[in-house]
Amino acid sequence: MAAIAPGGTIGILGGGQLGRMLAMAAAELGFKCHIYCPDAEAQAADVAARLTRAPYEDAVALAAFADSVDVVTYEFENVPAETARILSQHAPVRPAPRALAIAQDRLTEKTFLKEHGIATAPFAEVAVPADLDAALVRIGTPAILKTRRMGYDGKGQAKIARAEEAAAAWEAIGRLPAIVEGFVDFEREISVVVARGADGGTAAYDPVENLHTDHILARTYAPAALAPALADEARAIAARIVAELDYVGVMGVEMFLLPESAGASRLTVNEIAPRVHNSGHWTMDACAVSQFEQHIRAICGWPLGDPARHSDAVMTNLIGDAAAGWAAIAAEPGAKLHLYGKAEARPGRKMGHVNRLFPLGKRPPVTSR
Ligand code: AMP
Repeated sequence: MAAIAPGGTIGILGGGQLGRMLAMAAAELGFKCHIYCPDAEAQAADVAARLTRAPYEDAVALAAFADSVDVVTYEFENVPAETARILSQHAPVRPAPRALAIAQDRLTEKTFLKEHGIATAPFAEVAVPADLDAALVRIGTPAILKTRRMGYDGKGQAKIARAEEAAAAWEAIGRLPAIVEGFVDFEREISVVVARGADGGTAAYDPVENLHTDHILARTYAPAALAPALADEARAIAARIVAELDYVGVMGVEMFLLPESAGASRLTVNEIAPRVHNSGHWTMDACAVSQFEQHIRAICGWPLGDPARHSDAVMTNLIGDAAAGWAAIAAEPGAKLHLYGKAEARPGRKMGHVNRLFPLGKRPPVTSR
């Protein structure tokens, strides 16, 4: 594939903060962006050349959008398969629709990982309540029931501490097609943001440690405190996933680190996100090439940038009212504020983030504050 030269136009499906930061990175390389999004509010469109506001099912609008760009990408994974198919008749779609289809369904995602020898929590399909009872016998409790589709930030999930709770869990997730997973007694949650270029080369950022509050990412510590061999293993797992998918672009790979007592392999994959990832926001200020620029480079057929970290960082999400503290953060030495331009600070809504930078090897310890 020939590289897309500066001056080209990138189509982005979705108008939220990830699209916004992709569009800003694209602008830095001389590209224009065209955002496609059904929502009334589209923060990405504030920083892009064009906006098409239309439903994802509007075949005419999709075709016109794809005809106006050199490549189509997306900032979230719940793009209907038919939408991706229509777009791909008019422009290259990167990452390819197959990766999207696999990652947007927890059953196909976990099955794909298993078939490629990548460790996950034990899991089983739950199509009807009887499946759940059978699966719990096999997997045991505690377990987590998760809807196959549209789950994020802990939505569409119910914990099952004892088998008697199965029926209530099935109700809680809305009786939707699901999987049940064994509960992983992890030591820490880490993630790797990895990129794969059009030439098949990969570049992984350092593994980071993530802390969640109410199932929403609260802070990312870069790097995760890991023995070098373990950090290499995490990067290698992420690189293998993108290679097996023949993926082009940036992917977030969420992993559980098991306690040392778990034995030989301590890493299991929880989830793959076929897009730039919240746990990669630290790269905006602690690496020469951010995950956003890296994604633009990959989908445009450019050489990948160096993922090396020049600083340590702690990324804190500004959720709901936290963004009201912008003035104090702006006055703080070593802090870089990023706000997403959202009008209303609803509880649980990601309004922005702040990257606090530290010299290499000097980031503060992880706290559960
Ligand atoms: P997910 O939506 O799959 O990323 O899950 C959201 C959060 O729930 C994860 O970040 C974990 O903290 C927790 N979680 C998900 N799956 C499991 C599991 N199998 N065992 C233990 N905790 C889990």
